Amino acid sequence: MRQSSLVVVANRLPIDDSVAPDGACEWRRSPGGLVSALHPLLRHTPATWVGWAGGTGPAPALPDVDGVRMHTVPLDAQDLRDHYEGFANATLWPLYHDAVEQPEYHRRWWEAYQRVNQRFAEAAAGVAEPGGLVWVQDYHLQLVPGMLRELRPDLRIGFFLHVPFPPPELFMQLPRRAELLRGMLGADLIGFQRAQASHNFAQLVAKVLGLPATDRRISVDDRVVRIGAYPVSIDTAEMAALAGRPDVTARARRLRHDLGDPEHVILSVDRMDYTKGIEQRLKAYSELLASGDVKVRDTVLVQVAVPSRERVAQYQILRERVEREVGRINGEFGRVGEPAIHYLTQPFDRTELAALYRVADVMAVTPLRDGMNLVAKEYVAARVDDSGALLLSEFAGSAAELEQAYLVNPHDLEELKRVLLSALRAAPEDAGDRMRAMRAHLHRHDIRAWARSYLSALDETGSLVRRLS
Ligand code: UDP
Repeated sequence: MRQSSLVVVANRLPIDDSVAPDGACEWRRSPGGLVSALHPLLRHTPATWVGWAGGTGPAPALPDVDGVRMHTVPLDAQDLRDHYEGFANATLWPLYHDAVEQPEYHRRWWEAYQRVNQRFAEAAAGVAEPGGLVWVQDYHLQLVPGMLRELRPDLRIGFFLHVPFPPPELFMQLPRRAELLRGMLGADLIGFQRAQASHNFAQLVAKVLGLPATDRRISVDDRVVRIGAYPVSIDTAEMAALAGRPDVTARARRLRHDLGDPEHVILSVDRMDYTKGIEQRLKAYSELLASGDVKVRDTVLVQVAVPSRERVAQYQILRERVEREVGRINGEFGRVGEPAIHYLTQPFDRTELAALYRVADVMAVTPLRDGMNLVAKEYVAARVDDSGALLLSEFAGSAAELEQAYLVNPHDLEELKRVLLSALRAAPEDAGDRMRAMRAHLHRHDIRAWARSYLSALDETGSLVRRLS
């Protein structure tokens, strides 16, 4: 098997199958946070991506994607249910997001998590060249660094957590908490989105494992594991170029016209997830309509809510609740040809998304907890004329960087209403100053800067990073 100097290990491969116009099945690079984040980096060095292709059938033979080799790890129906939908998305995901939904603990799920992590570690061990760099991604694979170190002590191993890492009082609930921490400590460098997460991790390692730990370094056996915040970003220049294209500008104009040429367009783009604060936002909006502070005649809300994890019960329940509420609000406040909320569940491609960002006078990003939230950054990057206002939850990782946003505590309905109104009524000069500052930040701290800073910290000899720049 050919080996690579850089191996990315993530739950999903960065591709989706789709049907070509001639009816043949073809694979395309998929949209989404992690994939969008790593794609620009992997074009520049011989790399392999280890991940699951989706589905439970035999592993398909896959083409390279932009020169990156795809190495499939198959999952069967039981793995999918117990590892992916179970331990990853019904235990860790809610626990790491402030337990806004109750995490579920099942011994069978933990066994599947170990089994699947072992399979990923073995796959990575097989494709990494001697002394190569392996970068393990996210909460589905927290045991992989430790397992990989057992198999291949010659590798430099990085681990990056895209979601929040919770405070000790929450993490302490987790059965098998010590094993999970030890798994992460197999890495040489553990990256988090925010400094608070490194702090939580260091506290837990000291408390649960009794190891000497600061917010930067942890001593494990004869090694030092470094930890730190590396906030992930977007390809800012690419989004700005896309949003500024004449066809996208024309499409944005057309969309505004189709929305009835309102004075204000408010946009939200979320995966349908209980962490995104969709219900709180709808409640605030409904109260603003009821009080007359917002009028359907001159303001529309476009809510994109793309279904995800549809086999997990909490997600089905959420979707039903959101759809009932949207129906109620439209029934109560909409008029013929003028719905209060334009509710869309189909996924948008990047071009259409860029046009939507251009239309939005206010972008409402109000998660209850979010590791980063790339949508907030994409909106800012797309505002090429420096207009528009970003309403942003303090509990999104991006709030630590986008300080000029209209920051809000989404649990506080009165505050949510008040700050949304301020964003809607912002003076153009003030909004312009804020947007300019945020755009400048994102041009400096883009996806390449993120990858460079993480990988140069991981790759102490500097040989790989020199090739990337
Ligand atoms: N996205 C997309 N089409 C859609 C909705 C979202 O391509 O219809 C992309 C969006 O541009 C962003 C990603 O999905 O890059 C969502 O990432 P984010 O960090 O905001 O949230 P996550 O879904 O990872 O929790």
